[in-house]
Amino acid sequence: MRLASRLFVGSVVLITVLVALVVALSGARLRRELEASEVAQLGREARLVVAAWTPTTNADSLADAAGAALGRRVTLIDSTGHVIGDSEFDGLALARLQNHAGRPEVIAAREHGIGTSRRASPSRGDEELYVAVRAPHGVARISMSTAQLAAIAARARTDVLLSGLISLGAALLLSAAFARRVSRPIVELRDVARALAEGDLARRPALSAVGEVGELGDAVHRMADQLAARLRALQGEEARLAAVIESLNEGVIAVDARRQVVRLNESGRRLLHITDAVPFSLDRLPRDAVLRHALTAALAGEPIAPVETVIDGRALSLTARPLDGGGAVVALFDLTATRRLEAMRRDFVANVSHELKTPLTVIGGFAETLVTDDLPPAQRAQFAEAIRANAERMRRIVDDLLDLSRIESGGWRPNPVVVDARLAADDVIAAVRRAGRDRGVTFEVQIDPQAATLYADPTAVRQVLTNLVDNAVRYTPVAGTVTVFTRPAPGGGTWLGVRDTGIGIAAEHLPRIFERFYRVDPARSREAGGTGLGLSIVRHLVEAHGGRVEAESTVGRGTTVSALFPAPIVTPS
Ligand code: ADP
Repeated sequence: MRLASRLFVGSVVLITVLVALVVALSGARLRRELEASEVAQLGREARLVVAAWTPTTNADSLADAAGAALGRRVTLIDSTGHVIGDSEFDGLALARLQNHAGRPEVIAAREHGIGTSRRASPSRGDEELYVAVRAPHGVARISMSTAQLAAIAARARTDVLLSGLISLGAALLLSAAFARRVSRPIVELRDVARALAEGDLARRPALSAVGEVGELGDAVHRMADQLAARLRALQGEEARLAAVIESLNEGVIAVDARRQVVRLNESGRRLLHITDAVPFSLDRLPRDAVLRHALTAALAGEPIAPVETVIDGRALSLTARPLDGGGAVVALFDLTATRRLEAMRRDFVANVSHELKTPLTVIGGFAETLVTDDLPPAQRAQFAEAIRANAERMRRIVDDLLDLSRIESGGWRPNPVVVDARLAADDVIAAVRRAGRDRGVTFEVQIDPQAATLYADPTAVRQVLTNLVDNAVRYTPVAGTVTVFTRPAPGGGTWLGVRDTGIGIAAEHLPRIFERFYRVDPARSREAGGTGLGLSIVRHLVEAHGGRVEAESTVGRGTTVSALFPAPIVTPS
């Protein structure tokens, strides 16, 4: 039941009981008072009759006269108990009346001067109130019907009841108004508390009530203020945490106790290729045994030391931890680049060792023979020449490696100036012309007038061209043509390239020729004095200028390798 109704019903019950009690008590008291006052009145009247009762008076006449005057029954009884006068009986009827000596009021009057009795009258048949007073010649008695008393009492009771009902009605109206007044602020507080609990932190109670309810409203107001402030602080903290987690390079997956993914940062999405919005079921994560095992263990409360797994071709280091209160968090660290670098380093060391081992073995072999065997001078000279040639090869490898590491480590920075393409091409061709002529190779230079200059480091341009022309000559059999050309790049800058009509490169090798030590035909390359590092150096030099390299080739028809040197970045002054 509602508070207002409870208050109303409670006060209605209380008021009704009170009014009923007042009506009952005042009715009974009224009846008693009324009877006492009637008894006193009857006594006074009886004394008046006694005063008028002399020995000479005709008792019956006195009774009749007094009865008529007082409007009561007046009875005069002699000392033997005979009724000698009665205002309501005359003659024969009077004579027939019983002896009254035994009536309680008469006995009491004789003994104490006055006697009272209330009982049914044998002579009148109804209930009567008698008051008897001792007189010198007997007892004078006045009586009245109690019906009269009852009528007065009934009228009084009706009045009391009526006023009771009126006050009850007024009390009902007042208590209804009171109940509403008391309950309204409480109902309002309840609504505000409910709204706060449901998250509407803008709601505040109207501080109109007084007393304790007003204080309660005040307390709710302050509580809501504090709650809102704390929530704001919490939200700020949460936003900061989310931003930190999002900015991490590591993938972070948070799972709650119901096996739902509740947080997955951008790195995590990228590593696991997941686009679903959180929360989503754990089953949507990749079906990788290591990841699943780590999650299951962490959800069971067991922390997992970093383990490695491969998901979608990426090497991931994975750490899982249980969360307080259930759930788990998994951190994913992408090791792909590290693992690739490690593999490259291993390959590089193996390649370098291999490259140096062959000339070293040759040098060692010849040197030993020279030391131990007694050889003719011509053969000694031949062996010495072989040692020199292999030492020269090792020197070239070491030189190329040093160049590469210098460029790669960032220790070398290009110093770009405007370079004349034709001069650079002529210069390089002049250096190799002899070697080319020996093999019947013709050289050509095709400079596009739109691309007559390059913005590049002149030493780097020379090294690039030397390596490219060198390759073109080496991989072009007799009577071929090697062309150094330029053409303007569509986005600005100049392409500098070398085209040959040589053996060409098969499509499957083409993407890899710029890698260190990559050779299409290792034996042929070594025989021709190649180190397998030339194109790698070219690529690094060009990339250090902000450019890139390209190669196209058809087996048996020839190869074109070009380098893009970007236009200088003009900074507005
Ligand atoms: P190398 O010292 O062996 O020439 P490079 O790095 O210069 O090493 O070239 C890598 C490989 O690419 C060579 O071994 C060769 O197989 C191939 N190559 C480079 N230039 C040409 C070309 N102009 N024609 C055919 N093959 C070439």
